[in-house]
Amino acid sequence: MPSVPHTESYYAASANDKVERTQLNDNIETDVCIIGAGYTGLSSALHLLELGYSVTVLEAARVGWGASGRNGGQIVNSFSRDIDSIEHTVGKETGQLFGEMAFEGGRIIKELIAKHEIQCDLKDGGVFAAINKKQMGHLEHQKALWEKHGHLGHLELLDEQGIGSVVGSERYIGGLLDKSGGHIHPLNLALGEAQAVEAQGGKIYENSAVVKVEQGDNPTIHTAQGSVKAKFVIVAGNAYLNGLIPELQAKSMPCGTQVITTEPLNDELAASLLPQDYCVEDCNYLLDYFRLSGDKRLIYGGGVVYGARDPADIEAIIRPKMLETFPQLKDVKIEYTWTGNFLLTLSRLPQVGRIGDNIYYSQGCSGHGVTYTHLAGKILADVIHGQATRFDAFASLPHYPFPGGHILQVPFSAVGAWYYTMRDKLGI
Ligand SMILES: Cc1cc2nc3c(=O)[nH]c(=O)nc-3n(C[C@H](O)[C@H](O)[C@H](O)COP(=O)(O)OP(=O)(O)OC[C@H]3O[C@@H](n4cnc5c(N)ncnc54)[C@H](O)[C@@H]3O)c2cc1C
Repeated sequence: MPSVPHTESYYAASANDKVERTQLNDNIETDVCIIGAGYTGLSSALHLLELGYSVTVLEAARVGWGASGRNGGQIVNSFSRDIDSIEHTVGKETGQLFGEMAFEGGRIIKELIAKHEIQCDLKDGGVFAAINKKQMGHLEHQKALWEKHGHLGHLELLDEQGIGSVVGSERYIGGLLDKSGGHIHPLNLALGEAQAVEAQGGKIYENSAVVKVEQGDNPTIHTAQGSVKAKFVIVAGNAYLNGLIPELQAKSMPCGTQVITTEPLNDELAASLLPQDYCVEDCNYLLDYFRLSGDKRLIYGGGVVYGARDPADIEAIIRPKMLETFPQLKDVKIEYTWTGNFLLTLSRLPQVGRIGDNIYYSQGCSGHGVTYTHLAGKILADVIHGQATRFDAFASLPHYPFPGGHILQVPFSAVGAWYYTMRDKLGI
């Protein structure tokens, strides 16, 4: 089968490790077979190896080929819906548990980077930037909420002058700095995690798409050229699973978001945009996110394409957004553009659960997945090891199909997004 390369991106061009792994061409056995080598799969593998399980990861393309190797690289704490909204759904006691977990994914990432000496341009500090008073009010609420759940000593509200000292743009009226957030080269993080999996005896096969999962006491996972008999399976294909497990399709929708990267900026220009080298995301419903790369390019992302159709001209969509934030970049060349898919759920909370006795899944973190997927890996490893409390909390989150069914969910969601975008523009 022909090999599937990484999408052409700044990340692929600056990847630390370009060696291709072998394809599965055999029938083998393992304790846990993981489908997908993104952060969910790799974090699961690392945590399972630590617990003494043998692990085999099957990746349809390359390690980090999906969202994990294409994202904005922003380490954002909590979930795509915040702890209070979760508490509203699950009650105070379970809500408290989510509060404890909301800051763990970021810690796991930093621990993995330190432990395995992963070179991925880690920088500390992330900013939520407010465009209007209503958004600033949300940030004040978020600070109080996160501190109530123990996230102390990391957060700082920024007034107009404060945000001006960390983002060289006229767009924002204030913000919230999370010093424990930060940013990374996402593909190099995934590649470093994959090397750590292999260093601990885990096996990763690339260009090995799973075509069938045979359920049973010892499920068998089939690729075109081989098979894996396992005691447990973890499904970690997220937005790229393409209906492999039909039960997982109905309540989630793949969505695209696009990223552009400038040529390297001179030191003075780079420091004028982001003087502290923090990453930034705004507070709009369809948000913009940006940061500097290790070699001082501006990486700028935004937009959502419901249903994940690939847009024809990414630069035409994202460059105007970048220039609205930083008009001073009008003569700067864009060197890379790419798109990637994340998986949206109606509640924006992840879909976590078990099929039969031994097939586990986590998907659909709806945008903010860099930290959550690392937490998910630990929770999935723990449940396989017999500790189910935190898995059960996630599995208890209710999920509903998108309005409009399979045919109309894309236009319905676009109308919903238009409504919220208008509210953002009007500040209501
Ligand atoms: C452009 C973009 C920007 C983003 N920016 C941010 C950000 O700045 N901060 C943030 O928190 N989140 C961000 N996200 C979201 C975040 O990247 C994702 O939530 C996260 O990476 C999902 O990880 P995952 O491992 O679950 O899925 P993925 O990384 O998508 O990995 C799934 C893997 O499974 C493989 N696979 C699928 N089906 C099969 C099969 N049948 N057999 C074998 N393998 C299979 C795929 O090839 C893929 O490699 C962004 C997403 C995108 C697309």
